[in-house]
Amino acid sequence: MEADVLIIGAGPAGVQAAIHAARKKAATVLVGKTGNSAMHGTELENYFGFQQVQSGTDILRYGIEQAESFGCTVLDMNVMSLSREGDLFKAALEDGTSVSARALIVATGTSRVKLGVPGEKEFANGKGVSYCAVCDCNFYRQKTVALVGGQAEAVADAEFMTRYASKVYLISPTFDTSQVLMDAAEKAGVVRLDAAVTEILGDGKVNAVKLSDGETVAVDGVFIELGGKSSADLVMDIDLMPEMDDTIKVDRSCATSVPGVFACGDVTGKPWQVAKAVGEGCIAGLSAAEYAKKVKQ
Ligand SMILES: Cc1cc2nc3c(=O)[nH]c(=O)nc-3n(C[C@H](O)[C@H](O)[C@H](O)COP(=O)(O)OP(=O)(O)OC[C@H]3O[C@@H](n4cnc5c(N)ncnc54)[C@H](O)[C@@H]3O)c2cc1C
Repeated sequence: MEADVLIIGAGPAGVQAAIHAARKKAATVLVGKTGNSAMHGTELENYFGFQQVQSGTDILRYGIEQAESFGCTVLDMNVMSLSREGDLFKAALEDGTSVSARALIVATGTSRVKLGVPGEKEFANGKGVSYCAVCDCNFYRQKTVALVGGQAEAVADAEFMTRYASKVYLISPTFDTSQVLMDAAEKAGVVRLDAAVTEILGDGKVNAVKLSDGETVAVDGVFIELGGKSSADLVMDIDLMPEMDDTIKVDRSCATSVPGVFACGDVTGKPWQVAKAVGEGCIAGLSAAEYAKKVKQ
């Protein structure tokens, strides 16, 4: 199959890019599984225009229907590898077929680094384990929470959560961040515990964490902030080198350093938020459609 614009990743960034590219009348193909998007199974309350918490799964489904209604072809599968064939980018798909396109948009997102302790999976998705303080802060008003992680992001999130929660613990066996950040967190009332979380406990919902020093600390929620891992490695096949932190660097038109390759959403870096993903998706979709039109002429 040949297209003007090929988009890899069916999360909010990729779907928004597909909508804008298809409306520009570029022949657009979107490859990805919405079920694997970070937005799938989430509940959104900080996205513009919604009066109530919205289901991320529903929004993704509506978005795919929208993209298809504007003429985008959606393939519910993964891209296994990328290559170049003359002016075209070629993606090999998991069913053995391939798609070639003049412009490529990488919208492959990130996955959060997991803590890997008992209880983490059981209490994820609305039962007390979260990977995003900015997303879920409001659900923990006047509650007790633990921030797990020893890097700058975890410390900053702990300080931030003091504006919502009545008590905030910051838990890690080691801390690798500036004293200024640690002091700011302490001043805001964050209680630091130098230990590892070995288990997340609860009964339907989180009610405590067990620590490596034998202590059990009562909490209503656990925020795990250990960073993210993207699948940006895929682009190395087309001579695009991800940054040291695994992100793909883009300019204001969402163009990467390789002509014809654009990127958007979580894969370009923080903030990991739907609003930023769709904003960049819009830009990448328009830029890629424009690029494809130029090289076609
Ligand atoms: C539990 C949770 C709650 C959240 N709550 C909020 C919130 O309240 N508000 C908010 O703004 N944000 C929230 N977020 C963050 C938000 O979901 C992300 O910022 C957003 O989904 C990023 O969009 P994206 O399209 O860049 O990446 P993703 O949504 O992750 O989509 C990337 C897609 O690319 C696919 N992909 C990767 N590699 C390949 C490949 N080789 N071939 C094909 N497809 C591939 C992935 O499988 C995935 O489907 C939350 C995230 C989580 C995990």
